[in-house]
Amino acid sequence: MYIDSHAHFDLALEDNSITEDMLVTNARTHGVDRVVQIGIDAGSSRWSYHFAKRHAADGILFTAGIHPSSQADDAELRTLEDLTEAVMSGDSAEILFGIGECGLDYYRMRQPRESQARSFRFQIDLANRHGLPLIVHSRDAMDDTLGILRDYGATAGIMHCFPGDRSAARRVLDLGFYISFAGNVTYRSAAALHDSASYVPLDRLLIETDAPFLSPVPVRGKKNRPENVVHTYRFIAELRGEHLDRVIEAVRMNFMEIRNREAKKIQI
Ligand SMILES: [Zn+2]
Repeated sequence: MYIDSHAHFDLALEDNSITEDMLVTNARTHGVDRVVQIGIDAGSSRWSYHFAKRHAADGILFTAGIHPSSQADDAELRTLEDLTEAVMSGDSAEILFGIGECGLDYYRMRQPRESQARSFRFQIDLANRHGLPLIVHSRDAMDDTLGILRDYGATAGIMHCFPGDRSAARRVLDLGFYISFAGNVTYRSAAALHDSASYVPLDRLLIETDAPFLSPVPVRGKKNRPENVVHTYRFIAELRGEHLDRVIEAVRMNFMEIRNREAKKIQI
């Protein structure tokens, strides 16, 4: 059924009216049988690991990463590296989906550019070493993001919450990346996103909530949850004039392909 390729359960749980088990169960009862819990710093990545371990039977995977808005000093980067190495050499390596979210955010600019870039390069290298896909966040920084990805040899991963028009999409696709759309694609005013969501080939498309942010229409304005990903699937299918089942199937295949391709790459 549906896959939500990017969610933050830890941030969604800051809303005390809901429990971890309720969030996971609601996703499954809405047909969302795979969700990737995304780490945003070393502490969140460690939480994500334990969360995914608790819910491995519920289809939860996780990533280890440091968001460009999170502080990334040497100790933080080393902790992330140690966690990744421990998980990859342990018996639950298969629940680690990728490295990130990492990248550049010049919109919020919570960290200096140079420190964002350093953390980004470190995580590209970490992903490459372990044959893991990279989950990239880029806001008001597409040129620099693509430049670093190219210079550091990142050839596969996901541009999450894709922010651009079709020409930006083309550049991301040319790098070999998948493009993941979040709930903001459903907003009426998002003309550039509508254009790119109809342009991206089905075999490079992913769909996410980025919960608890960016709730799609018709739940816009409320706290977002993984079960809401179904609205974004429906919107994208309609926008593209494709059957919903075809979009669901394509996203599933893409998701599997990302896992397999990266795993294969490391063996070569
Ligand atoms: Zn995110």
